[in-house]
Amino acid sequence: MYDLLIVGGGPSGSSAGRLAGQKGLKTLLIEKETFPRYKPCGGALSEQALSCLDFPLPESVREREIFGVRIHFKESVIEGYKSYRIATMVTRSTLDNYLLEKVKEAGTEVKTGEKVLDYREKGSFVEIYTNEQIYRAKFVIIGEGSQGKLKSKTRKIDAKSEYGICIVTEVEEENEKIDRYISRAMEIHFDVMEMGYGWIFPHEKYYSVGIGAFANKLSDPKRVMREFLKKNGFNGNYRLRGHTIPAGGIKRNVIGSRVVLIGDAAGFVDPFAGEGIAYAIRSGQIAVEVIAEIVHQNKELKELRDYEIICRREFVNNFKYALISVKMMHRFPDFFFKLLTGNHEVFEKFTEIPALKKQYRSYLEWLLPRLPKYLLSTMTSRH
Ligand SMILES: Cc1cc2nc3c(=O)[nH]c(=O)nc-3n(C[C@H](O)[C@H](O)[C@H](O)COP(=O)(O)OP(=O)(O)OC[C@H]3O[C@@H](n4cnc5c(N)ncnc54)[C@H](O)[C@@H]3O)c2cc1C
Repeated sequence: MYDLLIVGGGPSGSSAGRLAGQKGLKTLLIEKETFPRYKPCGGALSEQALSCLDFPLPESVREREIFGVRIHFKESVIEGYKSYRIATMVTRSTLDNYLLEKVKEAGTEVKTGEKVLDYREKGSFVEIYTNEQIYRAKFVIIGEGSQGKLKSKTRKIDAKSEYGICIVTEVEEENEKIDRYISRAMEIHFDVMEMGYGWIFPHEKYYSVGIGAFANKLSDPKRVMREFLKKNGFNGNYRLRGHTIPAGGIKRNVIGSRVVLIGDAAGFVDPFAGEGIAYAIRSGQIAVEVIAEIVHQNKELKELRDYEIICRREFVNNFKYALISVKMMHRFPDFFFKLLTGNHEVFEKFTEIPALKKQYRSYLEWLLPRLPKYLLSTMTSRH
């Protein structure tokens, strides 16, 4: 009997696995793939994500430090840099492999190449069925990502308006050429499709190029991606990969009586930026903090509710404002972009969001009372 069984060795499962080892819980983490494995991702690790780790990332994992944002909209471009770092570029196969090593270091047992097929809550424990054997644990944490099916026992499957589709490819390039094009910024294109964006991120000897949007607004993602690549001068025959990504800010049930969903499985992704790694790491840690208290202090099972409460307080409430922001922006895209390009302060404060200096809520609270003033200055600057 384990205290805890964790499904999935992505950032959510790994952060849960590491903390569980540190807290002295008898834990098994099961990952279906053999690491390192490819994971479709832009690879932008925000400052928030880095700040959740209890160790520094080595240079072999960090590829580029990002200080700025370049935004394209129709014929206009706006670019701004901060004096502080807002993100670090990583390759997910390398990052996830490193995070999984940090799980083993903390004393948690890890099994890769084994797939969890199902589980059953049995009163005083959970029975877990894999393609190899049956396990028992007092608690199960599900960090299976957005694709797995286990989460459907705890929460309903998302409608098309509640998740996005992202497609990505890696375009190989010499570092000197990448440096000349964009060395320390993330490039975002807001004119690719409704309720989404395209990106070009600089990495070590490649660009991550991708598109993502809400599934109900994106009927042919591969066609949109091919057009985006072509428009930006990428004319090779690239392998396109991707999958769904849940939109945070939508009410979802994330706990059973002995089961907790974390990361993408719980739907913890910023619906404006599509950033999920930070919330995957943090939700994995919160889940273990709550479970460890129940196990070590013999608390009642209903204390598992604390997981929902802490997640809501730390980031789920903010997702609701991110969802309002994305809807507002895509309802009035021309106005929003004029607002960004025409008023230095509006752009400056906007770029504070990925750097964790501002939340969507405080940005909206700052912007809304000033809108009439900015609207007036945007209109008068046209004449
Ligand atoms: C194209 C794309 C680009 C993105 N770009 C960014 C970005 O730049 N920055 C950012 O912050 N976020 C980005 N995201 C979101 C980010 O990738 C996710 O939010 C993050 O990976 C969630 O981590 P996770 O641990 O919850 O899930 P995952 O990283 O998906 O990990 C889940 C793991 O569980 C394993 N697994 C699944 N089912 C089972 C099973 N039954 N048994 C055992 N193991 C199982 C899988 O093999 C996998 O290793 C992007 C997403 C996409 C699709």
